[in-house]
Amino acid sequence: MSCNPVFTSFDGAIRGDLRLNEPLANHNSWRVGGSAERFFLPADLDDLLLFLRELPEDEPLLWIGLGSNLLIRDGGVSGTVICTRNRLKEMLDLGEGRVRVQSGVPCALVAKFCAERGYIGAEFLAGIPGTMGGALAMNAGAFGGETWPLVGSVFTVDRFGETRTRVPSDFMVGYRAAIGPQGEWFLSCDLNLHLGDGVVIRESIRGLLARRSQTQPTNLPSCGSVFRNPEGDFSARLIEISGLKGLSIGGAQVSTKHANFIVNIGNASAEDIEQLIAHVQTEVFRLQGVRLIPEVRIVGRRLEL
Ligand SMILES: Cc1cc2nc3c(=O)[nH]c(=O)nc-3n(C[C@H](O)[C@H](O)[C@H](O)COP(=O)(O)OP(=O)(O)OC[C@H]3O[C@@H](n4cnc5c(N)ncnc54)[C@H](O)[C@@H]3O)c2cc1C
Repeated sequence: MSCNPVFTSFDGAIRGDLRLNEPLANHNSWRVGGSAERFFLPADLDDLLLFLRELPEDEPLLWIGLGSNLLIRDGGVSGTVICTRNRLKEMLDLGEGRVRVQSGVPCALVAKFCAERGYIGAEFLAGIPGTMGGALAMNAGAFGGETWPLVGSVFTVDRFGETRTRVPSDFMVGYRAAIGPQGEWFLSCDLNLHLGDGVVIRESIRGLLARRSQTQPTNLPSCGSVFRNPEGDFSARLIEISGLKGLSIGGAQVSTKHANFIVNIGNASAEDIEQLIAHVQTEVFRLQGVRLIPEVRIVGRRLEL
């Protein structure tokens, strides 16, 4: 499976897919970035735990879901990337509005699963193009809904494969962030929803998706909102009044439809995007006196020139 000597203990033991030098542009929504030294797609939860238990202690780890909030630099990522998308993919109806969701399930499927059962509260997840694990890590939210108010408990794992059940009070949850015990990642969560009317819920989802496609450049690769909204204001407004809408560097452009989106208009590099992010920050600070803070997480190495 792997020719790297530190990984020989895996040969024949794991059932998932361990790839070397995997191009990460295939695994993020901006479609940019270098390769992962090692890239692991577990077959299922047991396989992932086995993998973690065998992993060398000093191996750097990056977990990703759908890569819809990540800027992966062009020089790639050292160590191992663990990708849960469509691998930790189970959902279970626990009854009375309670649902158990593994972290690799796409948010849109969670919204659909809940709507089909007449469970109300998860509609906002329909338009978030990430996984449940990513939504927990980011406290993803939209149209007034947020992830963590739905969470009853989460099931986590550390790098040695030890699992724990944790409750929301173990985490500091805020705007697009949930900070918990160091070195633990999400395997699944139990969500608490209310009982409602499936027809009304489905109608509400249709409305939310329509609003999204009217206001966001959903046809071009992006990572959604690049910057957090400053207290009491909107990053998109500040970027727009700074005259930056439509500005491009290489293949990266400040969207003409929604100024807080940077879109890949063709062959952008991660460096183009990162330079555009820095330029927007500089100009908005110069013209409006506000420091914009990226919501997107930037990982990996820059290319050495
Ligand atoms: C078109 C578009 C629209 C968007 N709209 C919204 C929106 O309305 N609201 C919103 O909040 N976001 C939005 N986003 C951003 C993004 O979809 C969310 O942040 C989403 O929750 C990220 O999930 P992911 O699986 O893609 O995570 P990734 O991008 O893969 O990872 C994001 C972070 O989560 C961590 N992570 C991933 N999985 C796990 C895990 N199992 N355990 C621990 N950490 C993990 C990663 O290490 C990384 O730090 C949008 C993105 C796009 C492209």
